[in-house]
Amino acid sequence: MHYSGTTIRPPYEAYSLLLQVTKGCSHNACTFCSIYQGERFSVSPWDEVEADIAEAARIRPDTKRVFLENGDAFCLPAEHLLEIAAKLKKSLPRLREISGYARIQNIATKTDAELKALADAGFMGWNIGIESGMDDVLAFMNKGYDIATAREQLLRLNKAGLPFSLNIIIAAAGPERMVEHAAANAAIVNETQPYLVFVSPLHVDPGTPLEGMRDRGEFVESTLGQYIDEEIDFLRQLEMRDCIFFGTHISNPVGVAGRLPHDKQALIDELLEGKAEFPEYALDSHPSKGREGFITGW
Ligand code: SF4
Repeated sequence: MHYSGTTIRPPYEAYSLLLQVTKGCSHNACTFCSIYQGERFSVSPWDEVEADIAEAARIRPDTKRVFLENGDAFCLPAEHLLEIAAKLKKSLPRLREISGYARIQNIATKTDAELKALADAGFMGWNIGIESGMDDVLAFMNKGYDIATAREQLLRLNKAGLPFSLNIIIAAAGPERMVEHAAANAAIVNETQPYLVFVSPLHVDPGTPLEGMRDRGEFVESTLGQYIDEEIDFLRQLEMRDCIFFGTHISNPVGVAGRLPHDKQALIDELLEGKAEFPEYALDSHPSKGREGFITGW
């Protein structure tokens, strides 16, 4: 298989076949992201993709799910993605689903008819790092869209029958606005109803623009305890019809996962219990204490 540069996948794609169709990220400009630093974006040559599919057919002929690499494989034109799907289906007879990372801008470049054709071809579960429901936080992260655009594009996916998962970065608005951030994040997730919501904390990676922003005092990091409080507040406000809540990334101080709405209270209880291990943050001293709907509501 051809894997060049950085290759990543969401934790829940551990058993998917990873097929490299692009290298790097076509945006590669988010202020917090160090994943593809120094890597130039490129599209994999078709003969490499064909060779990898042929190899997969030999070594994993029972493959049921494929994850397309790398940072935003959904940037490929619909026609190209449909070609990949056709080749995969021909070579892997038990294949059911194809997914990958997608950005909001990748959806906007496709027509409604193309989105529907992609759904019909087996694309399912694009992982989208929407990150935040607040416009100024999206701007500070340099995501390249506002929340109205994100909402519009995600609703288009729903209309096309293309289920997706959403990544939310908890604590991205800093500790002073954690209540506001939790509410804004819950609002966009409730409105767009992803099949999975993935939460992880904002962490400052060395060499990123965010590191300089933090050092200059333009961004204040939350403590682990504050992060957990925001995660709980977000979770409490979710009104999901049927959704996996996934918070077991290695960066989550307290790893929890379950199905919403059924497991909501159990997840909140687990987070509250786990939070006791993070004494660096005393609830009583938090500026949000006592606000309507915050921690005191439980
Ligand atoms: S879109 Fe994703 S992979 Fe690309 S720079 Fe932003 S966070 Fe990193």
